[in-house]
Amino acid sequence: MDSIKNLSNEEKTSKVPNMFSVQHFCLHDGPGTRSIIFFKGCPLRCVWCQNPESWNLKTELAYKHTLCIDCKTCVEVCPEKAISAPGEWDEERCTLCFKCVEACPSGAMTRFGEARAVAEVLDELRPEYTFYKSSAGGVTFSGGEVTLFPDYASDIAKHLRDDEIHVAIETCGQFKLDQDAPEKLSLEIVGSSIKSPVWKLLSQVDLVLFDIKVFDSEQHKLLCGTANDEIKQNFATLTQIARNKRGPKVWPRLPLIPGMTDTVDNLTKWSAFLLENGISQLTVVPYHNLGSPKRAWIGAEPAPDIPSLSDEALNQSIQVLTDAGIRCYAPGEEEWVNL
Ligand code: SF4
Ligand code: SF4
Repeated sequence: MDSIKNLSNEEKTSKVPNMFSVQHFCLHDGPGTRSIIFFKGCPLRCVWCQNPESWNLKTELAYKHTLCIDCKTCVEVCPEKAISAPGEWDEERCTLCFKCVEACPSGAMTRFGEARAVAEVLDELRPEYTFYKSSAGGVTFSGGEVTLFPDYASDIAKHLRDDEIHVAIETCGQFKLDQDAPEKLSLEIVGSSIKSPVWKLLSQVDLVLFDIKVFDSEQHKLLCGTANDEIKQNFATLTQIARNKRGPKVWPRLPLIPGMTDTVDNLTKWSAFLLENGISQLTVVPYHNLGSPKRAWIGAEPAPDIPSLSDEALNQSIQVLTDAGIRCYAPGEEEWVNL
């Protein structure tokens, strides 16, 4: 794992995940002060997604039009003659050597994604331990979807937990789990009768931040790219394990997207589902239209124009959830002790 620099781009993608960012001093993705590792690769395609650089498993070349000073250095340095003009390159020819990124004087040519050894990531996290420990914080694996990389992520998680660091994952819930839940999650049982490698990751995690979105499965398919039957089943399985104190705790999060997830029908159905599964708290994340240019940077279709959630709509959603028996929290204001 430590010799990643010697691997080709293809080998890197197949052996270790790509990360698009590691951020420190974060307060909104789990208890206390945390570092967040953002993995690349996601099985969903939510129409409102503001992190399209997380979709693709592979490293990507991106072009930030507004930063370009039209010097044409990128055209000159490309060894494959793949760039015909600033921002225009032939993906068939491009070998993702990123020489254009290194040479670009303005940061217009950009790379998303980097394969990093477990030891290297741990070296970056270790100086932050003091902050985690003094704030009851830790590390959160986010994305993208970390359950796509259960072996790699559980390797990092195990090292962190050996150092008594709290580990959380944020998941969209779309992963394969053999539903015969193990008696108790621990590394000893993993690798014996356990089929799904995601159990291995879950055995090394303290908290699962479980994203829920659109309740109706057909609507979920339309708006997020997949049906959500498996997501709901995984939620039920994980909350049951948590209730029996046999695995990580589970805390749901719901992005409030105007007209999509904030409808009375959607909120009422999710409330009933959460309560059926023994959960009565929820983090609600209001949608803000940031006018992000990221989709254009990676050549993706533009996002539909979704307005930001108004304060009035936020309060109405909270009222619906509260009336149904769900206690709502803003990100970073959760009472984790109630878990
Ligand atoms: S090197 Fe960078 S700034 Fe110069 S033309 Fe290419 S993208 Fe634009
Ligand atoms: S990443 Fe390398 S091959 Fe691809 S366009 Fe840039 S310089 Fe050319």
